[in-house]
Amino acid sequence: MTDQPRLTLNDGRAIPQIGLGVYKLPADEAVTVVGAALDLGYRHVDTAAFYGNEQGVGEAVRQSPQTIFVTTKLWNEDQGFDRALRAFDASFAALGLDWLDLYLIHWPVPAQDLYVETWKALIRLRDEGRVKSIGVSNFSQGHLERIIQETGVVPAVNQIELHPRFQQTDLRRFHQAQGIVTTSWSPLGQGAILDDPAIARIADKHGKTPAQIVIRWHLDSGLSVIPKSANPHRQAENLDVFGFALDQDDMAAIAGLDSPDGRIGPDPELL
Ligand code: NAD
Repeated sequence: MTDQPRLTLNDGRAIPQIGLGVYKLPADEAVTVVGAALDLGYRHVDTAAFYGNEQGVGEAVRQSPQTIFVTTKLWNEDQGFDRALRAFDASFAALGLDWLDLYLIHWPVPAQDLYVETWKALIRLRDEGRVKSIGVSNFSQGHLERIIQETGVVPAVNQIELHPRFQQTDLRRFHQAQGIVTTSWSPLGQGAILDDPAIARIADKHGKTPAQIVIRWHLDSGLSVIPKSANPHRQAENLDVFGFALDQDDMAAIAGLDSPDGRIGPDPELL
């Protein structure tokens, strides 16, 4: 299997560019599904306290002989300094590993205005060596500017909704200027983008599937990408994206799919 590309984080560590997303993966299937993915060559798994499957994910990772990059996330009701520390302990215990690679604040939830305190707790956890890297998810430029200004610590990652119909070019430019790696969630647009005729044309041209074209687009765009599939055939397909590259015409056609109405998930300002 081809060595998978990694992106360097602003704390000097590296994240495998492709990971397996496990949202909505039932807890009792997590060991088998994640185990199959790790056997296929996945080296990065993206879970969250909210997904309720940290235990199964951890068990699959423990059973793998490979070094696996594990991300989990702090849920909204666990924000605040002390609560965040306790939520970390609970996630760490559920995973049952002796390390955690990346801990993210799942959503900023500006209405409760606790994300700065929560970020300070994550900094404490990192400084104590309990988690290797820290970051955020669904943060806008304004949320990022605030935590950076109040703590001086720039998140290693901001994980945001990002797919050809919702390309987030302004936020990505800000990330790049700050040295923040962008991870794309719902990278396949939850499957909807795969029927798009422009993607189908590019797929035919390269002899690849639409999912492979979209994942290649994320990679060629310098993004970390966490497609979800519980099906081993699709898991394999989503990892088999090496040995070809999109050309300028392909990139221009995909750039043309971006839409201001392309968001699928909640607006982080409103959640
Ligand atoms: P996705 O874009 O990865 O799409 C997944 C769906 O696409 C699958 O359920 C399947 O129906 C289809 N699919 C996958 N591979 C395919 C293939 N090869 N061919 C055809 N169809 C295929 O959507 P997602 O699950 O919403 O996002 C991926 C991951 O991102 C999640 O599992 C989770 O880890 C993360 N996520 C994070 C947040 C956040 O707030 N941070 C929010 C949503 C998702």
